[in-house]
Amino acid sequence: MALLNILHYPDKRLHKVAKPVERVDERIRKLVADMAETMYAAPGVGLAATQVDVHERVVVIDVSDTRDALRVFINPEIVWSSDERKVNEEGCLSVPGIYDSVERAERIRVRALNENGEPFELECEGLLAICIQHEMDHLLGKVFVEYLSPLKQMRIKTKLKKLEHAM
Ligand SMILES: [Zn+2]
Repeated sequence: MALLNILHYPDKRLHKVAKPVERVDERIRKLVADMAETMYAAPGVGLAATQVDVHERVVVIDVSDTRDALRVFINPEIVWSSDERKVNEEGCLSVPGIYDSVERAERIRVRALNENGEPFELECEGLLAICIQHEMDHLLGKVFVEYLSPLKQMRIKTKLKKLEHAM
């Protein structure tokens, strides 16, 4: 396994649209293992392949307190989402130190493949539902700060660029 480099907003590569995975093979399983290691090390609760500059539809998530409940979503699709929406504070490994409010569906049902290429469906709510929606946005090239006002986005860009230069 290996730690992968996480892209930071406003890196243009975060806006690439990921392609579906054609075959869940050893290459994809290695990507999943590396992404999981990178997410746990960060530490974070979710990571999309887009964030490590791999533009294929792969997401890893672990919202458990014990950090031992890895969930893998390959080619995820939201097949249903609730009309009820909720505003939550979100953060992102690609936007370090920035937290802000985003409104999302409270409950969703998602269909995906696991790391063995087997299809599954999952209905969920709360942090897991938020996290899946957040990570799936990454696969479409969207970062959560793009839900915020243009002024806030500009401030965040300026702040992160300064941070990047300082490193
Ligand atoms: Zn993110």
